[in-house]
Parts: sequence; structure tokens; C-alpha cells
Amino acid sequence: IDLGIMVNQNKSLGKDTIELLAVAYHIKAKEKKQVNISDIDKMFKKEINNKKHLVPRPPVITIMGHVDHGKTTLLDYLRHSHVAAHEAGGITQDIGAYQIKEKGKTITFLDTPGHAAFSAMRARGARITDLVVLVVAADDGVMPQTVEAIDHAKAAKTPIIVAINKIDKPGANPKKVTNQLTRYGLIPEKWGGNTIFVNISAKLGTNVKELLDMIILKAEVMELKANPKQNAAGSVIESKLDKGKGPVASVLVQEGTMHIEDPIVVGDTFGRVRTMTNENGKPLKSAGPSTPVEITGLSSVPEAGDRFVVFDHEKDARAAGEQRAEQAQMERRKQDNTVTLSNLFSTM
Ligand code: GDP
Ligand code: MG
Repeated sequence: IDLGIMVNQNKSLGKDTIELLAVAYHIKAKEKKQVNISDIDKMFKKEINNKKHLVPRPPVITIMGHVDHGKTTLLDYLRHSHVAAHEAGGITQDIGAYQIKEKGKTITFLDTPGHAAFSAMRARGARITDLVVLVVAADDGVMPQTVEAIDHAKAAKTPIIVAINKIDKPGANPKKVTNQLTRYGLIPEKWGGNTIFVNISAKLGTNVKELLDMIILKAEVMELKANPKQNAAGSVIESKLDKGKGPVASVLVQEGTMHIEDPIVVGDTFGRVRTMTNENGKPLKSAGPSTPVEITGLSSVPEAGDRFVVFDHEKDARAAGEQRAEQAQMERRKQDNTVTLSNLFSTM
């Protein structure tokens, strides 16, 4: 209590706290092997490397580019001109991601406008997207957020496909824009480079099919695979507190398959997957790799970019979640009053 932590026998304490108490009471504290997120990540990596369970998965695409260059228009065109990967019907929800089907192939698009999740994931060295489609308006050219997007993608080692947009406009000069982009290392194949360029009009739909073909082609070369048979792991795309539903998170399942009732740890929070719906509001019982879903059942609202993992047992999920929540609380506490051995002793 003097450390500002309220506990009872059902709660677990963090390592730092236990070490402090052990010293104060002259007890030797030994660390027990515990389940935590990084162990789970390691387990998953081992599973991922277990090639016999790997099967192809849909590519996850993020559309990036300067404001007003046509990202939303392109996404809207794709969404309306293509059959949703899941059966139609229901209310279309904004879950920050959706899937389309082209030539029998599913493609997952992320449409986080501020790329909050993308940045957060990058800061943690994790990847959320396989491919960036960089939209550059042919009448405006390379702008600050174009450069930012290129930097993001390069730092994350994510391949870029360039879509030069608005070629229907009178002032459009795709060649000039292509030239500008070569300064950032994006050189089209016909100029001796290895970047795919497609000139499109998102508004009219011109060459959008070609762009999709290129995305599929590029994704095939990447041989994207995942193991659907393991516990699900992935990332939060968006989250909010809904008055009726409580904490709601849009998540991208990146590994494994998520099932209703799965015990889950998301960032500093935990819970059980109570409901799971796709972008069309259709309830799902399970969701495999590269599927974006909206879930409820968490004890609090996670942050965009948070990793999630599913545990076999709820008690492990709860312990890991509480441990992480406590760590986060300790971090916050450290910022305003540093807990040290000496001030622990002084309060005894
Ligand atoms: P975002 O900020 O990148 O999402 O850009 P928007 O999709 O909102 O587009 C900004 C403006 O450009 C809107 O008025 C669109 O109608 C217009 N726009 C987008 N794509 C095209 C295009 O291919 N041709 C033309 N003429 N206008 C476009
Ligand atoms: Mg937009």
C-alpha cells in the first residue's frame, strides 16, 4: 500500500515490486518461469518456422500518401467495385480494414488514415503490412507526406508499389512525378529499377484493375504464409469505448486462428473474445491469418498498434494481462514519484 499498489491474494505483483519487498523483508526471491508476451512471441516464431504448418495467406496492404492525393477515393472505388471477400449483406462498419476478392484471391486493406498503428508497430519492430501502395497525385507530385510514407515503408523494409493517381486531370504529368520519385530510390522497371508503377485514376477507376493485378503478382512473389493452426496473434488497428458494447477493438489476425471465447491479452489489457464480427457486421466464429475483425470482451480499451496474443488458459491470460497492466502502472508512477529502496524503507 505504501508503494501505492493495491493488492489482495488474487492479484499478482510485478517483478520490481517483489524484488523491493524481498530486500525489505530479507527474503531471497527467485524468479519462476512465467508466461509473458515476449515468450509467446518466441513460441510463435518457432511455430512460424515450423514450415509444415504454413499455408498461403492474403497480403495485407496499406495505402499511404499525401493528403488529398486520393487514398480514400481509391479505397472506396475498390470497396464498391469488388465483391467483399465475405458474403455480402449486413451493415458495413468502419473497422479500419477490409478485404476484397479479385480473381479468387483475397486482399486485406488497412485504411488507418493517420497510420497510428503502422507507426506504433514500427516503433516495436513488428510488421503489420506486407506492401505499401504509395498514392501520388499526378498534378501535385511528391509532397511532405509522400516522403514521410516512403521513409515509413523503407524503415519497416516494406516493399512499395507506386500508384500515380488523378491521370484524368488536365494538369496531370505522371512522367514528371515518376522522375521526382526516382530521387527517393523508387525507379520503375522500364527505367532499370525494380519498383512497380501504375498510372491510375481512382475517381474513374482507370487502371485500378492493373494495380490490383500488380498487388497480387507482388504478393505471390513474396510467398506470404502463416500457420492457421496455432493460437492467434496480431495487432490492434483501432479501438474505442462503445457505450453498449464496452471496449471494442479492430484487430488484424496475423498468425493463427482466433476463435470466439479465446482468452486473450491485448497490450495491457486482457479478456475473452466475446463477439467477433467482420467489416460487414457479420458475426464470425473464427478468423484466420490476415483477417481483420472487430472484437469485444476486453477489460479495457487497448491502443492502436498494441500486439495481442491468445492463450490456452484464461488464468494465464489474466496473469499476463495483470502483470502488463501493473508494469504500465509502475512506468507511469516512476514518472511522477520514483519508487526507490530508500523511500520504501523510510515508510516502514
Ligand atoms: P486522400 O486525402 O488521400 O484520402 O484524398 P481523397 O481520396 O479524399 O481525394 C481528394 C480529392 O481528390 C477528392 O476531391 C477526390 O474526389 C479527388 N480525387 C481523388 N482521386 C482522383 C482522381 O483520380 N481524379 C480526379 N480528377 N480527382 C480525384
Ligand atoms: Mg482520405
